[in-house]
Amino acid sequence: MQKLTWDIQYLSPPPAIKYCKKCGKKTEHLCSGLFRINAQRKYLDIWLIYKCSDCDSTWNMTIYSRINPKSIAPEMLEGFYSNNGALAKRYAMDTELIRNNGAEVGFPKYKILGANINFNTPIELHIKSSYPSRLKVSSLLREKMNLSQTAFEQMIISGSIRITSGLDLKKCRLQADAILIIDSL
Ligand SMILES: [Zn+2]
Repeated sequence: MQKLTWDIQYLSPPPAIKYCKKCGKKTEHLCSGLFRINAQRKYLDIWLIYKCSDCDSTWNMTIYSRINPKSIAPEMLEGFYSNNGALAKRYAMDTELIRNNGAEVGFPKYKILGANINFNTPIELHIKSSYPSRLKVSSLLREKMNLSQTAFEQMIISGSIRITSGLDLKKCRLQADAILIIDSL
């Protein structure tokens, strides 16, 4: 069996989908990469600023609420004050945090890096993602293998494609790493 790896490269963090008062509907909010910090007495509030993609209204996603600054590492605090890009990205990719802030998580833009499957030999395919995303494993497979929904479902039914986690391959979403077994034709 040949081992193959696909790396999912994210081109943007996922949009946060939430109700925009100005637009009067649910819209995609995009991460601005900027933090907002508010100091009150001994405590800090720290947010990551998002903007509605339709009207530019801002939405502040809570990172810390009333936290003692001494409990944050100084380098990290400096990162918040200087709008450190890697730090902003880390929070923007945190789908759990977005959900805990009452927003839905949209789909990030991504690229699939890795060799195509030629079906000449059985393959153990590892799909790697540095962040848990909402991307469906089936969509990634179909996109990269250029398969129709019907052709893909036939492969699942015949057992020629299997996911080692035992999850439902039609429904499961990409966590850190998915491993699939794909038979040759
Ligand atoms: Zn709006």
